[in-house]
Amino acid sequence: MLSGLGAARAAVIPALGPARPHLPYSAAKAVTSYPLGCISPVHVEIKALAEPLAWLCPACSDRIRRHLFTLAGCWGLLEALLQRGPGRQGEGAGGNKVDAAAPLDLEVAEIRRAIAAWCWSLVEHMLEDNRRLSMPGNTDTAAILEWVGRWHVGYITGHPDSSFPIAMQDELADMVRRVRARLLPDTVRRQPLPAVCSVILPAAADYAKCGGQLVALLRDDGGPATITCQEDPSHEIPQTEWLYMFKTKGRKA
Ligand SMILES: [Zn+2]
Ligand SMILES: [Zn+2]
Repeated sequence: MLSGLGAARAAVIPALGPARPHLPYSAAKAVTSYPLGCISPVHVEIKALAEPLAWLCPACSDRIRRHLFTLAGCWGLLEALLQRGPGRQGEGAGGNKVDAAAPLDLEVAEIRRAIAAWCWSLVEHMLEDNRRLSMPGNTDTAAILEWVGRWHVGYITGHPDSSFPIAMQDELADMVRRVRARLLPDTVRRQPLPAVCSVILPAAADYAKCGGQLVALLRDDGGPATITCQEDPSHEIPQTEWLYMFKTKGRKA
């Protein structure tokens, strides 16, 4: 049914802790005593209150959700980058047949492989723990990442094994860092703009805006800049929209 899961097993998700090896998930959850404060090491001094039946606070839980949405949003951009190949600019003179397939960008391929393996390994855990879990109709990696972000962050933050949400938090942050570094490389000149991203995040209950810093990616040839969001590079703002945005801002001032 879910083919390829064996390979994904290779992954990233640690084996569930030895503490309660024989208890099924729901029974383990029922006897877990969750902490009062968030256990994430991201809080250095002030500890935040954990959500009910979870190890993490609302801010950490939101970060996990955002990271899942960012990976989902950037999945297609990575695919486009993959197909373009590594040698985009000024490929060597002569010889190349026009119809020869572009070489794949191996680094991008590796990032996508890691994301997919992580995603499907998580799904495998979720199905093991809840056999009645109904999967979405669309099982593309991007659709699954968004589905987890929308509905199943609580599975991660409330997992009976406390090391699970911490590992997930680290791995997601690491994957998002790699995606941002590839889609917003340092070699491109950037101009931060006095505006934040207003893309509405896909969320179950509220309609929160992204709020990421907008930057203009400047082209060396003086061509039109692209405006994008530092938080999630898939939030590209069309030129018509940002011109309007700055006009109305100027008028108000
Ligand atoms: Zn926290
Ligand atoms: Zn954004």
